Amino acid sequence: MDADILRLKGVGPKSLVELNKMGVYTVKDIIHFYPRTYENWLNPKTIEEVYRSGMPGCIRIKKFSVTKVSQWNYPKMFAKLIGSDGESDIDILIFNNFHMIQKFIKGENALIFGSVEKNLLGYKIVGPKISQKQVINPIYHQTKILSSKRIEGFVKLALELSQGNLEETLPESIRKKYSLCTLEFAIKNIHFPSSMQDIEIAKRRLIFEEIFIWQISMALIKNYVKHETDIKILNDYLDEFLFLLPFIPTNAQLRAIKECTKDMIYGNKLAMSRLLQGDVGSGKTVVAAALAYNIVRNGYQVAVMVPTELLSVQHYNTFSKILDGVQINIGLLSGKIKSSERKVLEDEIKTGKIDIIIGTHALISERLEFANLGLVITDEQHRFGVKQRTKLVEKGKNPHMMIMSATPIPRTLSMIMYGDLDISILDELPPGREIVKTFCVHSNKRERAFNFLKKIVDSGGQGYIICPCIEASEGNIASVNDYKAKILNKDFIGYNAEVLHGQMSTQERDNIMQKFIEGDLQILVSTTVIEVGVDVPNASIIIIENAERFGLSQLHQLRGRVGRGEKKSYCILISDTQSEETIRRFKAMCSTNDGFYLANEDLNIRGPGEIFGDKQHGLTELKLAKTLRDMDIVKDSKDAVREILSNGYDIPGDELKCIRNKVKKVVNSMEKRIVM
Ligand code: ADP
Ligand code: MG
Repeated sequence: MDADILRLKGVGPKSLVELNKMGVYTVKDIIHFYPRTYENWLNPKTIEEVYRSGMPGCIRIKKFSVTKVSQWNYPKMFAKLIGSDGESDIDILIFNNFHMIQKFIKGENALIFGSVEKNLLGYKIVGPKISQKQVINPIYHQTKILSSKRIEGFVKLALELSQGNLEETLPESIRKKYSLCTLEFAIKNIHFPSSMQDIEIAKRRLIFEEIFIWQISMALIKNYVKHETDIKILNDYLDEFLFLLPFIPTNAQLRAIKECTKDMIYGNKLAMSRLLQGDVGSGKTVVAAALAYNIVRNGYQVAVMVPTELLSVQHYNTFSKILDGVQINIGLLSGKIKSSERKVLEDEIKTGKIDIIIGTHALISERLEFANLGLVITDEQHRFGVKQRTKLVEKGKNPHMMIMSATPIPRTLSMIMYGDLDISILDELPPGREIVKTFCVHSNKRERAFNFLKKIVDSGGQGYIICPCIEASEGNIASVNDYKAKILNKDFIGYNAEVLHGQMSTQERDNIMQKFIEGDLQILVSTTVIEVGVDVPNASIIIIENAERFGLSQLHQLRGRVGRGEKKSYCILISDTQSEETIRRFKAMCSTNDGFYLANEDLNIRGPGEIFGDKQHGLTELKLAKTLRDMDIVKDSKDAVREILSNGYDIPGDELKCIRNKVKKVVNSMEKRIVM
């Protein structure tokens, strides 16, 4: 199975290159190179039915007559026939296919396969395939050099070789419980099915396995397996907390708070392990504050870890404002504070004087000890390594844990990525938010976009310009520094503008950001470093250069920087792209502000591998589970994972050897990358 694909009969140097490009290196790889789609010749339809379906389909032609044959340069020829399925007639145009035309001329009744068009003169089919056999044909991703038919040939050979060599990966107990077929059946039928139903059976099994392996790996890597806890949250102080709020929480916020409280109330045995997902501006901080309040009133401490200094200050202010006048001590552990002050703060945390401590990863320093940590909240968690979060959790005795993420992810995908985490979703924005009006323009309209920005800034507003790169590089993508010169000395002379990018020190960045927050800066030119949770309500316009460089989810995140205040807000995407896929992305952006909808679109357009704009998370390894429409399989697999890992991290038993090995591979390859 692990033999080089080159050893397969028929594979030469040229096809080898093509196969490698598609990720096929071994005999085993080609067995797992699944068809893109199938041609179903089994159930011929009527001409009308195929036309209506809008898809290529199979038609049985019962009668026909040849109206025109022109032959130039044998065997090239062109023929026009009129065929009938018994109900309607259809014009059949055939090119270059001598044998096919021969067949028709001999008067055999035949099956044809293709797309049916319709015009004033009636139905028409151009260049259909023809067959006498009734089968389901696999169609593979082909290239100019390597046709689907040849790949099919390779697969056939590989399958012959694999007979009896294919090791079953899923133990019988799991297969039985979740009604999954054997690997052998699945592989045979994903390539050469005898019915459409068999394809579904095969797919179900293969998708299950992909997701299963992935979920176990994630659970192991991220330490998302639930643990028991003794923390005594005996009372619910939600009503008291709501009294402190200057506004009425949204239904979504209330629901999330209640879901979390239910997890944490004593008697559950297991600690809370929950992901709070909410679009930018959906009010996650309020949920965090509500939980923190509850925990503190029950006599425990809370740690809130955020990825940047700036956010820690922002959160500190928000928490302080909400919990103003209540007997709760909030501390800010910044990397900046003097060591003497730090010492005092650390003591206060250790003795339990501080109830809520907010900070960056300074929170996980070895020295820091808690009196009785009851809840760990991490915000915008994809910026943290897993080990960091785990370290913080380990500072308590199995504290509850909540992770907040502003990246809307379709539910199926988050179940895969976050394994055993429960999920709460804020799918509702606080009232009064206006949508961010979004446009897409060609770069020759840049000047107009800039003038619009100036107008907003002139009347006291602020705005962002985003450009994707730092260094001058490919094509017309300006480097931040060139761009800076151009912005400051040409486009925006006399304006207060600064440039922010990832190669600056955190100190420099924070200074600029601080200026922008305080309103001293009018225009902030930045790379995507500003993506994370910055809240400047006065900023009401964002211009995104080379917008084609960003994925849908990323564009949406960037857009979330504006529309945070009372002002009408705008997002302008600048791009000269011709790519249909990209244009589809822009259209989606312009048509809605709903992050979850966009995330779903992103998943449909690009598949899970690229939804986060990079390939670090390895989701590309999901082959069949591409668009993850099938919630049931994800749920089943999640249950199976839970069961297997119920006694800890070791995957037990001989039966699970294959799984163990596969998981090991994924874990190894993932740990080399930065994890989400
Ligand atoms: P997120 O972190 O989810 O992006 P925040 O928690 O920063 O969102 O909240 C965004 C803004 O909305 C804050 O200024 C907050 O005070 C405000 N806000 C949150 N919940 C409500 C609500 N229910 N009604 C009105 N304003 C709210
Ligand atoms: Mg936030």
